[in-house]
Amino acid sequence: MFLGHFGVALAAKELAPRTSLGTMVLAAQFADLLWPIFLLTGLEQVRIAPGITRATPLDFVHYPITHSLVGQVLWGVALGLLYFSLRRNAKSAVVIGACVVSHWFLDVIAHRPDLPVFPQGPFVGLGLWNSLPATVAIECGLLALGLMLYLPASRAKDRIGVYGLWSLMVVLVAAWVSSLFGPPPPSERVLAYSALAMWLAVPWAAWADRHREITTSFALKP
Ligand SMILES: [Zn+2]
Repeated sequence: MFLGHFGVALAAKELAPRTSLGTMVLAAQFADLLWPIFLLTGLEQVRIAPGITRATPLDFVHYPITHSLVGQVLWGVALGLLYFSLRRNAKSAVVIGACVVSHWFLDVIAHRPDLPVFPQGPFVGLGLWNSLPATVAIECGLLALGLMLYLPASRAKDRIGVYGLWSLMVVLVAAWVSSLFGPPPPSERVLAYSALAMWLAVPWAAWADRHREITTSFALKP
């Protein structure tokens, strides 16, 4: 899953409007942001296997630290506690923790049965990626749903609030489309380094979000 995680980040602003969209993106994409780091350290492994699913050529050989349910619950607790220690906002901290864990449940829909519950298994996955049309429908649907919740909850204060947000959406969709229809990555190492670029989405979302303000109906929420 890719765009769907950003849909969750956008929707989460509805529950915690004062928390930056950058923080929500960090949380909802946390597993995929850590993953290339663990690939490069050798603690997790991926294999490029064109044809393994219709939507991705990646065979997720071993990724218990970033992508097991237990791992994501622990990362969620850690990120939630870190946020609470910095901002003293319990509700936002819980939303952030839930966003981290939501990653696993969305990935269950998309992946082959390669997603570990505990680090050693059992492995689950509903295999959405075996169907290209279904992948496109679900990914685009979740992103659209996130935008439908985020846009009425916030208003652009200036042009950056508009173009910052929409340029991020365009880049994310373009990256996703090229991963779907482009050639597979030339090597696992190139894949890991290019996956690191996704970290840019965090400050980008924070920047756009800073140039937007919450609308009055949401201003009353903590
Ligand atoms: Zn993932």
